[in-house]
Amino acid sequence: MKNYLKLPIISIIFIFLFLTSCSTKPNEKTSSSESLVSSQAPQSSAAISVSSQSSAASNPTSSFTITPSQPTIKPTTKHIICIDPGHQELVDTSTEAIAPNSSIMKMKNPGGAEGVKTKIPEYKLNMIVGQKLNIKLSNLGYEVIMTRTDNKANISNITRAQVANNAKADLFLRIHADSVDNGSSVNGVHILIPGDEYIKDKYLIIESKKIASILLDSFVQSTQANSRGLDVRNDMTGFNWCKTPMVLIEMGFLSNPDEDVKLNTDEYQNKIVTGITNGINKYFNQ
Ligand SMILES: [Zn+2]
Repeated sequence: MKNYLKLPIISIIFIFLFLTSCSTKPNEKTSSSESLVSSQAPQSSAAISVSSQSSAASNPTSSFTITPSQPTIKPTTKHIICIDPGHQELVDTSTEAIAPNSSIMKMKNPGGAEGVKTKIPEYKLNMIVGQKLNIKLSNLGYEVIMTRTDNKANISNITRAQVANNAKADLFLRIHADSVDNGSSVNGVHILIPGDEYIKDKYLIIESKKIASILLDSFVQSTQANSRGLDVRNDMTGFNWCKTPMVLIEMGFLSNPDEDVKLNTDEYQNKIVTGITNGINKYFNQ
């Protein structure tokens, strides 16, 4: 009787050893690094046989390609922020179309505002805040693209939008300060967002408004500035040529002496940067 039992027992041991050795291989693969995935391709036969016995029996090839490629899908995706410090030193009165297929022309660089008290031009303030944002957002792991890093640069609003488009930015963040001719008491922050007269991609309209709302709240929370709300604009060349979500933050009024002085202090600029950064973090982590 004992000899009669030997064959089935040996067979069971062999089957057990075979299954154990096979089932360890997929586990090795999932823990391997990206660079090892392609070089391990020749081991595919074991992986295929195990996969096909389990959940993906009808399509063993795809189950094999999915299993080892998981680590390559994982790398942290950086959100890309295109920062556009508004204006520049050079006034460029030549014109460009306000939108693709539009015959309406606007000046490429009409020049920005100037501090009524500090006499500091808007393009300098925009650059200082833009660079502070660049440093802060980069440190937080965002990929930052600047439309300009030099006040001597000469780039039109179409070109600025194209920088964001080419970078495939997740956000085109335009930094400006405002000014009014009559009304030195006018003060506070408002954010411009695109209208749908030229922009037909509803995603851009909806997302721009969503992020602008979040940014306005976080800006006001950090700076205690007066909130003037959101303004929908169809006449902004830099919006109409843009193919990414976009906002233009008017940080305050340089025509207001108190706000002009405040905007040009390191302390208030840091509050602005904190507010904008908090808003960006909130939007991308919601
Ligand atoms: Zn401006």
